[in-house]
Amino acid sequence: MSIPRKQIQKLLEQGDIAQAVKLCRRTSRAKPGNPAVWETFASVQIAAGDFAAAAKSYKRVVDLQPDNCRAHYNLAITCSRLDRSHEAAIWEALADLRPEGVLVTHSHEDHAPLANPLAADLGVPVYGHGPGPAFNPDLRLADQDQVTVGSDDVQAIHTPGHSRDHLCFRAGDSLFTGDHIMGGSSVVVEDMKAYLASLRRLQELSLRRLYPGHGLVMDDPAGIVAGYIEHRLEREQQVLSAVQTGANTVMEIVQAVYAEVDPALHPLAAMSVRAHLVKLDSEGVVSLRGDDEVFLVRDMP
Ligand SMILES: [Zn+2]
Repeated sequence: MSIPRKQIQKLLEQGDIAQAVKLCRRTSRAKPGNPAVWETFASVQIAAGDFAAAAKSYKRVVDLQPDNCRAHYNLAITCSRLDRSHEAAIWEALADLRPEGVLVTHSHEDHAPLANPLAADLGVPVYGHGPGPAFNPDLRLADQDQVTVGSDDVQAIHTPGHSRDHLCFRAGDSLFTGDHIMGGSSVVVEDMKAYLASLRRLQELSLRRLYPGHGLVMDDPAGIVAGYIEHRLEREQQVLSAVQTGANTVMEIVQAVYAEVDPALHPLAAMSVRAHLVKLDSEGVVSLRGDDEVFLVRDMP
């Protein structure tokens, strides 16, 4: 029995969360030792608003895969939802301000699940690019759409790469970057080609400050964005040289390129390598077969 991801996705889209939970429960009984099953189950439990159950599922993933950083992260985030401390901190920060909307950069589980309940409590709409596992915007924003906040306009900039549904929000010369640019930590990239294009897109805007979803405010947007692009292109070269010198699986490339990095981070590095390979494959530089094998077709131009 494989994981019925499409069926689960369809049920979530139809709003039949109870049925999706049942299907996940059945799958997890059939495959209790498969971490991907528990990961899927956790995201459905989050969609159902059952954070206690989701935390248990992420704990199963962590037990099965102690090196899976993303599962550790998701477990921590889910536990933080249980004590409602994040929502309390937002209310405290709002003080006497009257919010007009909740703007969501993307639907990842550490960004979106509180948006709908918070907006309902505040009596304001939720804005976002599209629905996600535990998130459904009242108003969908496309690239360059404007949201009027008081006398100001906030502009949505569609910046796919970290996730397909990622938006940055521009207010004057400030940009709220979500996970597109992070302070002090490396961004996990799903689609490298789109990510680089989204970084170049920021170079067209004249910006003075970046407010990331994680980390500290940054004052040198031009330097930061240029550094991000340079870092990714350098990595791409390293991935390609690893392929040229004989690595032909994702993990072999990770071991060559990330030799200095803590092996506990290698699963995350593998995601990044895969994203580079998909880009190189689309450019005809390598040929990626299946999920984990790579064969060099030709050198970089
Ligand atoms: Zn994210």
